[in-house]
Amino acid sequence: MREIEADVCVSGGGPAGLVLALLLARSGVDVVVAERSASLDREYRGEIIQPGALRTLDQLGVLDGLGGYPMRHFQLVQGERTLLDIDYQTLPAPDDHLLSLPQRLLLERLLGECKATPGFRLLSGCSTRALLEENGAVTGIRCGSGDGETQVRARWVVAADGRYSKTRSLAGIGYDKFEKFEHDVVWFKLIAPERRTSAVRIHRTAADPVLVHDSYPDRVQIGWTLAKGSYKTVAAKGIEHVREQLIAAVPQHADLIREQVTALSELSPLDVFSGRAQEWVRPGLVLIGDAAHTHSPIGAQGINLAIADAVALHPELVAAVAAKDNRPAALAGFEAERRAAVDTVFTLQSRQNKGMLSSGRIVDAVRPVIAKLLPHTPIFRKILNLVAFGARPRDVRADLFRAPSNPGGTR
Ligand SMILES: Cc1cc2nc3c(=O)[nH]c(=O)nc-3n(C[C@H](O)[C@H](O)[C@H](O)COP(=O)(O)OP(=O)(O)OC[C@H]3O[C@@H](n4cnc5c(N)ncnc54)[C@H](O)[C@@H]3O)c2cc1C
Repeated sequence: MREIEADVCVSGGGPAGLVLALLLARSGVDVVVAERSASLDREYRGEIIQPGALRTLDQLGVLDGLGGYPMRHFQLVQGERTLLDIDYQTLPAPDDHLLSLPQRLLLERLLGECKATPGFRLLSGCSTRALLEENGAVTGIRCGSGDGETQVRARWVVAADGRYSKTRSLAGIGYDKFEKFEHDVVWFKLIAPERRTSAVRIHRTAADPVLVHDSYPDRVQIGWTLAKGSYKTVAAKGIEHVREQLIAAVPQHADLIREQVTALSELSPLDVFSGRAQEWVRPGLVLIGDAAHTHSPIGAQGINLAIADAVALHPELVAAVAAKDNRPAALAGFEAERRAAVDTVFTLQSRQNKGMLSSGRIVDAVRPVIAKLLPHTPIFRKILNLVAFGARPRDVRADLFRAPSNPGGTR
């Protein structure tokens, strides 16, 4: 078995893991990322990035030339009527839009920057399989693919391996699914180069609510929400039936659905849930991103929060590595700050979920009234800031960087 050593070993090279690895490597920390996938073709994911994460990516110098489509509005649409229009252009430039960007392009750029930074190593196609432990502290991981295994010894292991985190379960850390989302989401894309709207929309027709947005470079992405656990029954009735349901939900794309949705295999049903790990920091181990807290897609918060975790953890982890300290107390500030920020977003998403997706006689009657009044209340601006930047936005601590890096803040 191959054995390597590093200051920090990150399990998982998604948005959280790669942003953290880049921050650490630029700060002179020796960092190894073990990523299960050997390519950038990973699970089907959301692609809407909030201004807070865009600001961080800009400060890291990785936003320029990334591509994607700016999305100016987040709208709730009932039939032909726009009930609620959250206009991002009311935020000062350059934070006046969301970005629709396939995650693959984001990860590709982050990885390129990481590889160009001394001190960064990638174990590609390497799944975390076991934790190394000594005297009650995590001291590394064992990872591999097939028969080939690598042992990475590190002062800190960072679990950034997503909602079903293997590292979290290997550590025996409990996970609370504390809110049952009422819906599942079935995602698919249609080729629709002429139908850009520059808006993320939740369409409510007589059928199930659907999330629709432009997808870079030539598609429209659709998230069809349907009652929890009901997709199997719907799918069992066959593609013809599913197509009719989809057309009822998004009649404006009926022609494209008829042409392009030809098999159930073109649809990706996803179990949607939110939850939180019971512990985030243990001796030698810290959890970030979806591994620590998982969010429903409503309000597009997951990438924002994952990247914000990395930015908040960076200075404390750099200091802990320099002090050869693997005690949880070294990361206490990170945990307190991010738990509070994440809890605020959970509360917000729960309200968004009820307000935008749920159905019922009373909620259907009240929704248009609230949607009309909300933009004229002082709280609306606060909510927009929270959705866009998170509860405790922070700037990247570029003063800790040692390695030369692309200049950030060029927007
Ligand atoms: C359907 C859906 C739609 C979404 N839409 C949006 C959206 O529009 N905007 C938004 O902000 N968020 C959205 N999200 C959430 C967002 O995708 C996540 O919050 C975000 O990707 C979390 O980043 P992460 O790095 O923590 O985890 P992930 O992106 O899950 O990355 C984890 C990484 O760890 C790797 N990994 C897994 N297991 C192992 C292992 N054993 N060993 C090594 N590596 C491993 C995986 O291959 C992956 O690369 C959506 C989520 C879903 C499910």
